[in-house]
Amino acid sequence: MLNRLAIRYKLIILLGLSGGFALLTSSLIMVSSMYLTQSKSSMQVLHQLTDVISENMQAALAFNDASSASKILASLHTNPHILLAIVTNNNGQILSQYQANFLQAERAQIHKQALEQILKERTPQQPDQLLEHIQPDWMGVVKPVFFEGQAIGTLTLLSDTQVMWDEFRKFVLMQILASALTVALLLFLSLKFQAIFTQPILNLISSMRTVAQTKNYRTVLKSDHKDEFKHLYDVFNSMLVDIQERDDRLFKLATTDALTGLANRHHAMELMNTIINRAQRTQHPFGLIMVDLDFFKKINDTYGHQTGDLVLQEAAKVLRDSAREYDLVARLGGEEFLIVCDDAPLQTCIVIAQRIQQNLANHEIEYAPGCKLNVTASIGVYSSAQNPAETSIAAMLSAADAALYQAKHTGRNTYCVA
Ligand code: GH3
Ligand code: MG
Ligand code: MG
Repeated sequence: MLNRLAIRYKLIILLGLSGGFALLTSSLIMVSSMYLTQSKSSMQVLHQLTDVISENMQAALAFNDASSASKILASLHTNPHILLAIVTNNNGQILSQYQANFLQAERAQIHKQALEQILKERTPQQPDQLLEHIQPDWMGVVKPVFFEGQAIGTLTLLSDTQVMWDEFRKFVLMQILASALTVALLLFLSLKFQAIFTQPILNLISSMRTVAQTKNYRTVLKSDHKDEFKHLYDVFNSMLVDIQERDDRLFKLATTDALTGLANRHHAMELMNTIINRAQRTQHPFGLIMVDLDFFKKINDTYGHQTGDLVLQEAAKVLRDSAREYDLVARLGGEEFLIVCDDAPLQTCIVIAQRIQQNLANHEIEYAPGCKLNVTASIGVYSSAQNPAETSIAAMLSAADAALYQAKHTGRNTYCVA
């Protein structure tokens, strides 16, 4: 389930959960410490009240004056939180007791029983022992009353815990409000900042998709990051460079003649198609120049195959230099070459053919130290200007071939026009 979620949502959940957990822990600590503080301070208030009452109670206890004791306890009516008050002498006999008007009999009974429970906890040998007790709905203090340094009885006060809970509730409410605000802020920030992590990944995915569709491996991804994302982008870029280099290598292998470096037959036919189709569309004249080296077999037979290869390489260079820069020069196979002259009238093709012959004649091939040879070629020239009705490439090639054949028969080292 979580695996299917987008990274941005995983990040938001992660940030939300960790923030929420931290918030919950700190809230729990604060709420519990607030509870302790509040209960302590409420107990302190009860202690102060007990101190005041027990001071007033000294004489009444000393003289066992129940009526004075009752009057003193009656003053507790002004405090709406006091539930019960009991004054006992050292023998444990009740001198006077007070019960809040609003306290129902049933409730009073429960509190009295609780009070008895507290008093039981007292160690009989220690009448001056101070006790305090806190429950969710009430708290009590049992305090000795001293007269001339002697404990002469005890005063017990029971109050409700309303003040404590009111304060505590207020605090919890504030805490919930603050937590809600923090969670909202956290969500807002995580929504805003998740992009820092997800945007570079999304950019990379989008670029990868574009590269896969367009096959443009020359794409370079730029990254402003200095972290792992930069590393990721660098790795991706270097992978693209590798793919491009491999593509270039494969393309070269598939389109180039290994011996001469000229275009091979297959590639020449493809390019020729494009060139000729375009020329026919634009009505520009073009020419095909078919070149075959003369008596090449003899060179092989006389000087060896290796020299034959060298001659082919040198002849290829001469052809390349003799043609114009944008002419396509290809090796069709053996010692046969083709030059496709784009945007060239017949005269230009003838000039190129003559230049080839001239340059071959001038080009001495040193096949061994101090040993040189020359090679000649027969050339067939085809011009679209001379054959305006012809549209078939195969027919054009065979016309150029026929002209070449004618040149061979004319005595070689010459050119013929189809
Ligand atoms: P012509 O003047 O009539 O064209 O005669 P030629 O000897 O040039 O033609 P032929 O077709 O009789 O011989 C071509 C030779 O080219 C035969 C073949 O062994 C040789 N050849 C073909 N490809 C290569 C190559 O890659 N390297 C070498 N060294 N020789 C090759
Ligand atoms: Mg040949
Ligand atoms: Mg030949």
